Amino acid sequence: MKIHNFSAGPGILPPEVLRKASESALNYNNTGLSLLEMSHRSPEFEQVMANARSLAKELLNLGDEYEAIFLQGGASLQFYMVPLNLLKSKAAYVNTGNWASEAIAEARKVGNVEVIASSEDRKFVYIPSEFDMPKDADYVHITSNNTIYGTQWKSFPQTDIPLVCDMSSDIFSRKIPADQFSLIYAGAQKNMGPAGTTLVVFRKDILGKAGRTLPKMLDYELQYKKDSMFNTPPVFSVYVSMLTMQWIKDNGGIEWIEALNNLKAQFFYDELDSNPLFEGTVDKASRSYMNATFILKNKAIEKDFESMLKQEGISGLKGHRSVGGYRCSMYNALPLESIKVLTNVMREFAHKFA
Ligand SMILES: *Cc1c(COP(=O)(O)O)cnc(C)c1O
Repeated sequence: MKIHNFSAGPGILPPEVLRKASESALNYNNTGLSLLEMSHRSPEFEQVMANARSLAKELLNLGDEYEAIFLQGGASLQFYMVPLNLLKSKAAYVNTGNWASEAIAEARKVGNVEVIASSEDRKFVYIPSEFDMPKDADYVHITSNNTIYGTQWKSFPQTDIPLVCDMSSDIFSRKIPADQFSLIYAGAQKNMGPAGTTLVVFRKDILGKAGRTLPKMLDYELQYKKDSMFNTPPVFSVYVSMLTMQWIKDNGGIEWIEALNNLKAQFFYDELDSNPLFEGTVDKASRSYMNATFILKNKAIEKDFESMLKQEGISGLKGHRSVGGYRCSMYNALPLESIKVLTNVMREFAHKFA
């Protein structure tokens, strides 16, 4: 049976990418060696890393004033690494959910943090639209897509203060003004590749101002000066991330993937809004096009819904353990067909139970 993979993370990858990755795990480009047993200093892997770094900048439409590197430690290490490298006197944060709260907690271990806006008052069901940027902040940090709550920034703050963004769950999913940001980071495993690497893209001129001596592994400047290979990089994760970025480029780039993602989200939300049994859990204006969160109004029929999902091969729809309900993750590699299968199940379910 075909499985429709709605997993929130690690998330679905394109079948072409998985096929190529499996071949490379056995014999990389007819070298007779697996990519897994090859030196990271080999010309073959150096080429992979160089391609991955340049594809990331290309898909974000960024120029030479930016660097892209691949690190380890997940987005969670970036919660600490960002303030370590950038925070001198004060940092401003917008709190839009669990991950943003984690980022704030880690930054507070480094220095002075001001939370300039929060949607915690209504359990993170919206993106705050009004806040004052403190003129004296070294940077302001936002989370473009809130994976757990299902909200997403539709436009970004215009500010002279360096803007830093956790884009773990919507990187490369839509056209964004990337040059409005000073630093973007994204754990690979939601929308870009397998777990194990984190993309960090930054303007070079924001570095070197925090005035602290950094451990080598946590120093962006050292990492890019060593071409993202200061120590052994997570070779396979970087390689599969590169294949996914190449897949986006070969199919028509960000415009193509954005159009597909818009179509999937519209398809899903149209069903959600017209179906009498279900209800979205966040404000419509803040709805995420990557993770749609919703509930069954009548909890007594949850088991029936879930067994119907199982019958149709729908996997990974359960909401995050902290919020419950359901979450439809529609990452880049999810085909429209999977959304159609899900919305059909929802419609049939309503015929039976409404
Ligand atoms: C998953 C996620 C994280 C945590 O990523 P790790 O790579 O597991 O550390 C951080 N931020 C967002 C927005 C996420 O979706």
